[in-house]
Amino acid sequence: MGRPGLHRGMARTSFFNEEVSSRCHFSRTCPLVRRLCTSNSPSSSSIFSLSSPASRRHTPQIRAWSGGSAQQIPGIITSGTDRRLLATKSPRLRVAVDVDEVLGRFLFALNQFCKDRYGMEYGVSDYWIYEFAKIWNCSQEHSNHIVHEFFKSQHFTEGIPVIPGALEALTRLSEAQYELVVVTSRQHVIQDVTLDWLDRHYGGLFQEVYFGNHFALEGKSRKKSDICKTIGAKVLIDDNPSYAQECAAAGINVLLYDWDGAYPWSKLPASGVVNKELIRVVRDWGEVEQELALLAPQLQQGEEEQQDGS
Ligand SMILES: [Mg+2]
Repeated sequence: MGRPGLHRGMARTSFFNEEVSSRCHFSRTCPLVRRLCTSNSPSSSSIFSLSSPASRRHTPQIRAWSGGSAQQIPGIITSGTDRRLLATKSPRLRVAVDVDEVLGRFLFALNQFCKDRYGMEYGVSDYWIYEFAKIWNCSQEHSNHIVHEFFKSQHFTEGIPVIPGALEALTRLSEAQYELVVVTSRQHVIQDVTLDWLDRHYGGLFQEVYFGNHFALEGKSRKKSDICKTIGAKVLIDDNPSYAQECAAAGINVLLYDWDGAYPWSKLPASGVVNKELIRVVRDWGEVEQELALLAPQLQQGEEEQQDGS
């Protein structure tokens, strides 16, 4: 497995930053996004079926977060009746998985784009924080422009490599007692590309996909902790220490994905972390499986007690 620090590129960033996304032009122009962002009714939005060639696996049903309230979020959608019955008899643990830097090397592709288009030379080890303007030493507006140019490029649509070991581990987990869903802070403006990428690289593994739509100009955003709580995700796998702290404070277990210990931004503060015992640092997908195996018995017991009490 290659060390992330050896690759040029990566870090997620200001594009997830409120100020940046608040200037997003795509959300004004994309009809799909406009529909999602303006809808308050779950029935009028966001259940996506991805059509794909029979020659490859595909994610049967994907749902995007439309910004509705918790009460408006429909129940769990599974890929089939058998699965629904299985879930009823023996609850499967819902595990939420982030996209960027956990499933795919966003920063790697972004840095490649920056080098090819602007002659900028950055590597993963440069990103002590996941805010591009601070790393690139430019204005928020300029970094926003670069990131949105990146969204329109092949570097983004076709150039984001998967994280090694993720597919194999997720396949094993999905065949065990886990139900996998994606919870990403990505915006609705890049929803279609994201779904296509997930389908291409991780088809058939995720039951649902939720977009937090963070920092978007239009449409509501939702905190990851709220999404996880609402959909019953017991564990979040994420590289962002801010989301890790937010979810831990809400009582959700977190696996903080710091690939090979070489994600500079993916470090917890030395003090002041609420429920720090709920956050475990993992350095690759093998460690994810190990930690989930340790967590599963207690979480499963909690699930069953909850069901018995209801
Ligand atoms: Mg991430």
